[in-house]
Amino acid sequence: MFEKILIANRGEIALRIQRACRELGIKTVVVHSEADRDAKYVKLADESVCIGPASSALSYLNIPAIISAAEVTDAEAIHPGYGFLSENADFAERVETSGFVFIGPRAETIRLMGDKVSAKDAMKAAGVPCVPGSEGALPEDPKEIVKIARSVGYPVIIKAAGGGGGRGMRVVHTEAALVNAVQLTRQEANSFFGNPAVYMEKFLENPRHVEIQVLADQHGSAIYLGERDCSMQRRHQKVIEEAPAPHIAPRLIARIGERCAEACRKIAYRGAGTFEFLYENGEFYFIEMNTRVQVEHPVTEMITGVDIVQEQIRVAAGEKLRYRQKELLFRGHAIECRINAEDPFTFVPSPGKIDFYHPPGGPGIRVDSHIYQGYRVPSHYDSMVAKVIAYGDTRDQAIRRMRIALSEMSIQGIKTNIPLHQELMQDARFIEGGTSIHYLEHKLADKSEVKR
Ligand code: ADP
Repeated sequence: MFEKILIANRGEIALRIQRACRELGIKTVVVHSEADRDAKYVKLADESVCIGPASSALSYLNIPAIISAAEVTDAEAIHPGYGFLSENADFAERVETSGFVFIGPRAETIRLMGDKVSAKDAMKAAGVPCVPGSEGALPEDPKEIVKIARSVGYPVIIKAAGGGGGRGMRVVHTEAALVNAVQLTRQEANSFFGNPAVYMEKFLENPRHVEIQVLADQHGSAIYLGERDCSMQRRHQKVIEEAPAPHIAPRLIARIGERCAEACRKIAYRGAGTFEFLYENGEFYFIEMNTRVQVEHPVTEMITGVDIVQEQIRVAAGEKLRYRQKELLFRGHAIECRINAEDPFTFVPSPGKIDFYHPPGGPGIRVDSHIYQGYRVPSHYDSMVAKVIAYGDTRDQAIRRMRIALSEMSIQGIKTNIPLHQELMQDARFIEGGTSIHYLEHKLADKSEVKR
């Protein structure tokens, strides 16, 4: 096992990784920007290194500064968390060529999955069902593009091969709009991602977002840890996640989960990963793979008892997976609410000083957060300040516990989206379960209609 790990991230996930390391008896180095100097998790770490000013480009994305920090502190491995450099293949490569272990898949796997066209090709070859669409990237010839769209069937969605964060996508309903839409998406793809390649998929009208968590070691073993439903989204950002996904037969999950585990074996995947699917009319359609730990990993931890972050570290150190598929038990239900520093109705970010903080507790409640009374939420980064996770024997019990937790939780001095979550925990359609990815967006639009 490693003696010392460098954590190349910030906020709640930096603390989460630190906790995993401490439990495994591993020393931690936390790198931080000037804006995060006073964070408690920085003080809790065995060592800390300031790697630059507040701007992420100059700190959390500063590859040479992070590598130097690992060198001066004699860290053996680097955990990238999520966001920032976690899916940057060049970073993974630099980490390994500099003599450190990257806690994640090999650089070539990250590169393969980072290009959505090559990712889809690899998944198709591995037997994972994909959204019907173009074979690879779209050709230049407009006549060919029209032909492909006719065979896929309208509406279609044009997506950037190098896309991410919900950008570089365009839905097309009619042939008249097609060629122009492809051209525009190409231009955007080129300026956002430096890669003009685009591809076409059938646009699914009312899908759910259901994803499969996997773990794979370096000895050819891979398992799936069940699914998560992350359909409650605003602007393609997840707001609430839960496991298991309501109203999907366990045998369907087992079938798709097995396919994902098999795909991991085929591409010699290493570490934790997530296969994201759209789910509609009983069918799964692969859209992309995330080659890192995800924000919503705790709901899976709650129903499986597996510590995903510790397993990432163990696998990176060369250990064999400690679980076999048939030994895994999925028990109960877990729901996560992402608490953001933002106005609950306008969604305008609300950074600033937390004057008063009271976290919730009690049976089945887990809070993953780096905040405390007196903490100043910086304006430079993502607005998520806490994750509240409620576990229950049943979904109903998890919802009840979440309601209590949200009513106890108090964060003053900044605005948070706690009132939105409280409203959603009373929403009849949410309580029923199985809403589509458009549900929250439509609900919010209806509400602002009523106000006007
Ligand atoms: P990104 O990497 O930018 O997040 P994804 O491929 O994961 O892009 O897609 C983001 C979101 O866009 C999905 O969660 C879904 O809401 C929507 N989407 C993507 N592809 C389709 C599709 N074929 N049909 C319907 N919606 C889609």
